Amino acid sequence: MTTPRISAPSVEAFSAAILRHLKLSLGKDPEHASLYDWRMSLALSLRDHVVEPWFESTRKTYEARGKRVYYLSMEFLIGRLVEDVAVNLGFEDIAEEAITALGQNYGDVVANEPDAALGNGGLGRLAACFMDSLSTLGIPAYGYGIRYEHGLFEQHFEEGAQIETAETWLSQAHVWEFERPEVTYPIHFGGHVAVEDGKTVWHAGETVMASAYDTPVLGWQGRWANTLRLWAAKPTTNFDLESFNRGDYIAASAPEALARTISRVLYPDDTTDVGKELRLKQEYFFTSASLQDLLRRFLSEGGALKDLPDHVAIQLNDTHPAIAGPELVRLLMDEHQFEVAQAITTARACLAYTNHTLLPEALERWPEDLFARVLPRHYRIIQLIEAAHFATAGETVRIFEHGEVKMGELAFVMAHHVNGVSALHSELVKETVFSDLNAAYPGRIINQTNGITPRRWLYTCNRPLRGLINDTIGTAWPDNLDQLSGLTAHVEDSAFLDRFQAAKDANKARLADWLKARDGVSVDPAAMFDVQIKRIHEYKRQLMNLLETVALWNDIRANPNGAWTPRVKLFGGKAAPGYVVAKEIIHLINDAARVINADPVTREFLQIVYPENYNVSMAEMLIPAADLSEQISTAGKEASGTGNMKFALNGAPTIGTLDGANVEIRDCVGAENFFLFGLTAAEVTARRAEPDYARTAIAASPRLSEVLDQIRSGLFSGGDRDRYVNLVNGLYDHDYFLVTCDFDAYFAAQRQVDTAFADSRTWTRMAALNTARVGWFSSDRTISGYAKDIWQAQSLLEQRDADQNVA
Ligand SMILES: *Cc1c(COP(=O)(O)O)cnc(C)c1O
Repeated sequence: MTTPRISAPSVEAFSAAILRHLKLSLGKDPEHASLYDWRMSLALSLRDHVVEPWFESTRKTYEARGKRVYYLSMEFLIGRLVEDVAVNLGFEDIAEEAITALGQNYGDVVANEPDAALGNGGLGRLAACFMDSLSTLGIPAYGYGIRYEHGLFEQHFEEGAQIETAETWLSQAHVWEFERPEVTYPIHFGGHVAVEDGKTVWHAGETVMASAYDTPVLGWQGRWANTLRLWAAKPTTNFDLESFNRGDYIAASAPEALARTISRVLYPDDTTDVGKELRLKQEYFFTSASLQDLLRRFLSEGGALKDLPDHVAIQLNDTHPAIAGPELVRLLMDEHQFEVAQAITTARACLAYTNHTLLPEALERWPEDLFARVLPRHYRIIQLIEAAHFATAGETVRIFEHGEVKMGELAFVMAHHVNGVSALHSELVKETVFSDLNAAYPGRIINQTNGITPRRWLYTCNRPLRGLINDTIGTAWPDNLDQLSGLTAHVEDSAFLDRFQAAKDANKARLADWLKARDGVSVDPAAMFDVQIKRIHEYKRQLMNLLETVALWNDIRANPNGAWTPRVKLFGGKAAPGYVVAKEIIHLINDAARVINADPVTREFLQIVYPENYNVSMAEMLIPAADLSEQISTAGKEASGTGNMKFALNGAPTIGTLDGANVEIRDCVGAENFFLFGLTAAEVTARRAEPDYARTAIAASPRLSEVLDQIRSGLFSGGDRDRYVNLVNGLYDHDYFLVTCDFDAYFAAQRQVDTAFADSRTWTRMAALNTARVGWFSSDRTISGYAKDIWQAQSLLEQRDADQNVA
């Protein structure tokens, strides 16, 4: 029914296209071409095939006049695109053969592309997976975000400590985007509001232009392509020639510098409420541009604005675009003469909000005076919104409180649906952060458990496993991931298990080669690869993993002839530059690695590896090679997680707590294929209420006490007793994330893992069952849920295929 869209060129024709781009787009002849030139030529040759399906999708969208989805997100953590596009076009083999025929190494050419790192972690990667699924499902959609000049910082280690340097992906041309100089909107800040002739008028103090850059997002088999539209900030007047001619060069470029600041850099933290004026301006900048753009599109098609909710579904990825509520009300009232009540009702019928966190420090709030200064018109509109909310729901929940504007409450009140991102998280949203609002607006909170795109996170990143799955259940699974359940019938078949293990071993060998080539680090591919990769955060408890590693080291030293299961503990992840404790944890991991890896007694059993600069591309290398997935957050703190899904899909069983989507993963894979430990969310809350819970737990655990004493003694810090004094004392005095309370249970669960891993056949079966049973975590399922329960949006794929058959 949904046939591939693209007719593939021959290898010869594709090679010729690459050579043509090399000559005409890059201005190089093959003798002098660098890896960069080859990669750019390959990308451009692929891009040539994306444009037609993109146009066709856009045409179909205009013809259908149905609903369009607008996904507003501060972050899109995309990664590389060459392989992604080649795979979705179905040209992967052709691209590889052509590049090889031209004398280049395909892997090296692909790896030459910098990651588009316009996000911090899970939230931004979710947005990228959603864009992939929206296109694969053929749902007309636009992603809207910011075209940051500098993406997430690059991480280096100096003496084990994290150092950050600026990321510079746009220092080379970004071939996937098309600049749209004609698509610009003014974005206003500051100034004052006046009433003139009975009409409220905003006299702005400062204006910048938002300028569009479009990237086509191609779905599976090229059947559909939506647009990711990112906004860059530009000055209203480019250059002050008068100042320049007077010799005042700084004044001449001042407006430009000011405007550009807005889209200059990604804030390197999405887990704290930064409360910076620039951040508020970034949020308003991209939200206003996106709303102006979608209104222009709607009006250009002759729509009447009262019908807007029938044509427009706007999804807010966290509160960062929560200003969309008042901004849409402003546009309807000030530019289209709506009455307040009608403007609010219409806006709310378009808007839905995804909550990503229960951490109070991450819920955005703005000081009222700052807010009123930067967005004076919106400040007044939020007062109108709050009044309307009070009129229907009473005054228990305020938007303005303690001199702050609370963006979570604003987003909630202005959304027709609010969703959490896993079953557990959505329940906690109802019971905790938004319990009063849930009572006031029953039914508004729903769940949509996160997902991941299987095209990037299995098909592309794990070729050995892809091959086995294709041979076992056929090739229709990448856009119908429930079909993986067909593997279940084969888990008693030893030939199948041999091949499953061979695929894992091939991925491990590849990772070992990569670590050797990149960092000069040797690892034993026969050892268990125990992997924790994610942002460094206290609630994710990398510290607990490290403490367990040291405890294991102590045990091995005490009994060096024991039957230990060899392990490589792999860590990866960045700490926000201002997050002191997280940086101390990184430093400690690297310090412990130096000491433990040098110990001849334990060397064959235990090694710590922490490659620097974790990003999407590194995840694609590490996840297929993992034997064990570490998902050990304090229960109730990880809203969903998506890393957990990637590992399970690639055949790595989880050691984890009952947190976020771990709960649902365990339900799917079966309790016997998941290493569960630790306090539940309810037990966490109860334990925290007990006096001295951390000291009590440490006193009860000789193993943990010994490890903490070793760290304090300077054993890992070259005798420096001060380096980790705050980190260790923090565990005694305010172990908010209950590392101490879960430590013994975690250590015990790890010993169960050791035993299970030693029985390799049983382990492989467990790994295969993980792959077979997590098809539900495809982001196609998630997006279908949003489309049905929140957006009322339809796929146009069948429509398109029907038209094609007529033609
Ligand atoms: C999937 C992913 C994340 C999210 O991982 P969690 O374990 O869910 O926190 C973060 N960063 C990158 C690069 C990812 O690919």
